[in-house]
Amino acid sequence: TTLSDRLKTAIRDVPDFPKPGIVFKDITPVLHDPVLFADVTAALAAPWKGKGITHVLAIESRGFLFGAPVAQHLGASLVPVRKPGKLPSAHLTEHYALEYGEDAVEVHTDAIDARSLVLIVDDVLATGGTAAATRRLAHRLGAGVAGIGVVMDLSFLPWRKALAGVHVETLVSF
Ligand code: 5GP
Repeated sequence: TTLSDRLKTAIRDVPDFPKPGIVFKDITPVLHDPVLFADVTAALAAPWKGKGITHVLAIESRGFLFGAPVAQHLGASLVPVRKPGKLPSAHLTEHYALEYGEDAVEVHTDAIDARSLVLIVDDVLATGGTAAATRRLAHRLGAGVAGIGVVMDLSFLPWRKALAGVHVETLVSF
Protein backbone atom coordinates (compact mmCIF):
# COMPACT_ATOMS: atom_id res chain seq x y z
CA THR A 1 0.00 0.00 0.00
CA THR A 2 1.12 3.54 -0.74
CA LEU A 3 1.63 6.20 1.89
CA SER A 4 -1.35 8.02 0.42
CA ASP A 5 -3.57 4.95 0.99
CA ARG A 6 -2.26 4.51 4.54
CA LEU A 7 -3.09 8.16 5.25
CA LYS A 8 -6.59 7.77 3.77
CA THR A 9 -7.16 4.88 6.18
CA ALA A 10 -5.75 6.73 9.21
CA ILE A 11 -7.23 10.22 8.79
CA ARG A 12 -10.79 10.29 10.12
CA ASP A 13 -13.77 12.49 9.35
CA VAL A 14 -15.37 14.28 12.28
CA PRO A 15 -18.76 15.70 11.26
CA ASP A 16 -19.93 19.08 12.56
CA PHE A 17 -16.54 20.21 13.89
CA PRO A 18 -15.71 22.97 14.68
CA LYS A 19 -19.14 24.10 13.43
CA PRO A 20 -22.33 22.40 12.19
CA GLY A 21 -21.99 21.39 8.52
CA ILE A 22 -18.18 21.21 8.52
CA VAL A 23 -16.49 17.80 8.21
CA PHE A 24 -13.13 18.06 9.97
CA LYS A 25 -10.24 15.84 8.86
CA ASP A 26 -8.67 14.57 12.10
CA ILE A 27 -4.95 13.74 11.85
CA THR A 28 -4.48 12.57 15.48
CA PRO A 29 -4.55 8.84 14.44
CA VAL A 30 -1.42 9.56 12.35
CA LEU A 31 0.37 10.78 15.49
CA HIS A 32 -0.81 7.72 17.42
CA ASP A 33 0.94 5.36 14.97
CA PRO A 34 4.70 5.82 15.41
CA VAL A 35 5.64 4.02 12.18
CA LEU A 36 3.15 5.99 10.08
CA PHE A 37 4.13 9.26 11.77
CA ALA A 38 7.83 8.63 11.02
CA ASP A 39 7.05 7.68 7.39
CA VAL A 40 4.95 10.84 6.97
CA THR A 41 7.59 13.22 8.30
CA ALA A 42 10.31 11.53 6.18
CA ALA A 43 8.07 11.85 3.08
CA LEU A 44 7.35 15.51 3.86
CA ALA A 45 11.09 16.23 4.00
CA ALA A 46 12.17 14.09 1.00
CA PRO A 47 11.26 16.46 -1.89
CA TRP A 48 13.29 19.28 -0.29
CA LYS A 49 16.54 17.43 0.45
CA GLY A 50 19.52 19.09 -1.23
CA LYS A 51 17.46 22.20 -2.07
CA GLY A 52 19.29 24.44 0.40
CA ILE A 53 16.40 24.88 2.84
CA THR A 54 17.70 26.87 5.83
CA HIS A 55 14.45 27.25 7.81
CA VAL A 56 11.18 25.39 8.26
CA LEU A 57 8.26 27.71 9.04
CA ALA A 58 5.81 25.57 11.00
CA ILE A 59 2.24 26.88 11.34
CA GLU A 60 0.43 26.70 14.71
CA SER A 61 -0.71 24.23 15.96
CA ARG A 62 -0.69 21.00 13.96
CA GLY A 63 2.02 22.38 11.68
CA PHE A 64 4.33 22.36 14.73
CA LEU A 65 3.90 18.58 15.09
CA PHE A 66 4.96 17.86 11.49
CA GLY A 67 7.29 20.83 10.96
CA ALA A 68 9.62 20.02 13.86
CA PRO A 69 10.67 16.55 12.61
CA VAL A 70 10.86 17.86 9.03
CA ALA A 71 13.31 20.58 10.17
CA GLN A 72 15.41 17.87 11.85
CA HIS A 73 15.38 15.73 8.67
CA LEU A 74 16.58 18.73 6.62
CA GLY A 75 19.13 20.00 9.14
CA ALA A 76 17.20 23.30 9.07
CA SER A 77 16.18 25.78 11.75
CA LEU A 78 12.64 25.51 13.13
CA VAL A 79 10.59 28.74 13.12
CA PRO A 80 7.16 28.77 14.80
CA VAL A 81 4.52 30.80 12.94
CA ARG A 82 1.96 31.66 15.58
CA LYS A 83 -1.56 32.97 16.00
CA PRO A 84 -1.79 36.57 17.28
CA GLY A 85 -0.55 37.47 20.74
CA LYS A 86 1.63 34.41 21.38
CA LEU A 87 5.11 35.52 20.29
CA PRO A 88 7.05 37.26 23.08
CA SER A 89 9.61 39.24 21.06
CA ALA A 90 9.46 41.70 18.12
CA HIS A 91 7.29 40.21 15.34
CA LEU A 92 5.44 40.87 12.07
CA THR A 93 1.73 40.19 11.53
CA GLU A 94 -0.14 39.15 8.35
CA HIS A 95 -3.94 39.10 8.32
CA TYR A 96 -6.00 36.83 6.10
CA ALA A 97 -9.70 36.42 5.37
CA LEU A 98 -11.80 33.59 6.76
CA GLU A 99 -15.29 32.65 5.54
CA TYR A 100 -16.58 34.89 8.32
CA GLY A 101 -14.13 37.46 9.68
CA GLU A 102 -10.35 37.24 9.63
CA ASP A 103 -7.37 35.74 11.39
CA ALA A 104 -3.63 36.45 11.43
CA VAL A 105 -0.24 34.78 11.69
CA GLU A 106 2.91 36.18 13.24
CA VAL A 107 6.66 35.51 13.10
CA HIS A 108 9.62 36.85 15.04
CA THR A 109 11.48 39.46 12.96
CA ASP A 110 14.88 37.99 13.88
CA ALA A 111 13.94 34.44 12.79
CA ILE A 112 14.77 34.73 9.06
CA ASP A 113 16.41 37.23 6.71
CA ALA A 114 17.48 37.73 3.08
CA ARG A 115 19.94 34.79 3.30
CA SER A 116 17.14 32.38 4.27
CA LEU A 117 15.41 29.85 2.02
CA VAL A 118 12.30 28.63 3.79
CA LEU A 119 9.95 25.66 3.57
CA ILE A 120 6.44 26.21 4.99
CA VAL A 121 4.89 23.17 6.73
CA ASP A 122 1.31 22.60 7.90
CA ASP A 123 -1.07 19.65 8.23
CA VAL A 124 -3.81 20.76 5.82
CA LEU A 125 -4.30 23.09 2.84
CA ALA A 126 -7.93 24.20 2.60
CA THR A 127 -8.44 27.72 1.18
CA GLY A 128 -4.67 28.28 1.29
CA GLY A 129 -5.17 31.53 3.20
CA THR A 130 -2.98 30.58 6.16
CA ALA A 131 -0.10 29.37 3.97
CA ALA A 132 -0.34 32.43 1.68
CA ALA A 133 -0.18 34.77 4.71
CA THR A 134 2.85 32.81 6.01
CA ARG A 135 4.50 33.24 2.62
CA ARG A 136 3.96 37.01 2.84
CA LEU A 137 5.61 37.04 6.28
CA ALA A 138 8.71 35.35 4.82
CA HIS A 139 8.83 37.73 1.87
CA ARG A 140 8.48 40.81 4.13
CA LEU A 141 11.64 39.66 5.95
CA GLY A 142 13.45 39.25 2.61
CA ALA A 143 13.57 35.45 2.70
CA GLY A 144 13.09 33.16 -0.29
CA VAL A 145 10.26 30.61 -0.16
CA ALA A 146 11.15 27.26 -1.74
CA GLY A 147 7.63 25.94 -1.27
CA ILE A 148 4.99 24.43 0.96
CA GLY A 149 4.75 20.87 2.31
CA VAL A 150 1.51 19.53 3.79
CA VAL A 151 0.19 16.15 4.87
CA MET A 152 -3.11 16.61 3.00
CA ASP A 153 -4.96 19.00 0.76
CA LEU A 154 -8.67 19.49 0.32
CA SER A 155 -8.82 19.62 -3.50
CA PHE A 156 -12.43 20.92 -3.55
CA LEU A 157 -11.24 24.15 -1.87
CA PRO A 158 -9.44 26.93 -3.77
CA TRP A 159 -5.91 26.63 -2.34
CA ARG A 160 -4.38 26.24 -5.82
CA LYS A 161 -5.65 29.70 -6.76
CA ALA A 162 -4.41 31.25 -3.49
CA LEU A 163 -0.98 29.68 -4.05
CA ALA A 164 -0.65 30.04 -7.83
CA GLY A 165 2.96 29.60 -8.94
CA VAL A 166 4.07 28.16 -5.59
CA HIS A 167 5.72 24.72 -5.36
CA VAL A 168 3.32 22.68 -3.22
CA GLU A 169 3.97 19.08 -2.14
CA THR A 170 1.08 17.14 -0.60
CA LEU A 171 1.01 13.51 0.55
CA VAL A 172 -2.72 12.88 0.07
CA SER A 173 -5.64 14.73 -1.60
CA PHE A 174 -9.28 14.59 -0.55
P1 5GP B 1 -6.73 27.40 5.07
O1 5GP B 1 -6.06 28.63 5.58
O2 5GP B 1 -5.93 26.70 3.98
O3 5GP B 1 -8.17 27.60 4.69
O4 5GP B 1 -6.85 26.39 6.28
C1 5GP B 1 -5.76 25.67 6.68
C2 5GP B 1 -5.60 25.76 8.16
O5 5GP B 1 -6.79 25.36 8.82
C3 5GP B 1 -4.51 24.82 8.59
O6 5GP B 1 -3.72 25.44 9.60
C4 5GP B 1 -5.24 23.61 9.11
O7 5GP B 1 -4.62 23.11 10.28
C5 5GP B 1 -6.64 24.09 9.42
N1 5GP B 1 -7.69 23.21 8.87
C6 5GP B 1 -8.71 23.56 8.04
N2 5GP B 1 -9.50 22.53 7.78
C7 5GP B 1 -8.98 21.49 8.45
C8 5GP B 1 -9.37 20.10 8.57
O8 5GP B 1 -10.38 19.60 8.03
N3 5GP B 1 -8.56 19.32 9.34
C9 5GP B 1 -7.45 19.81 9.94
N4 5GP B 1 -6.69 18.95 10.67
N5 5GP B 1 -7.08 21.09 9.86
C10 5GP B 1 -7.84 21.92 9.12
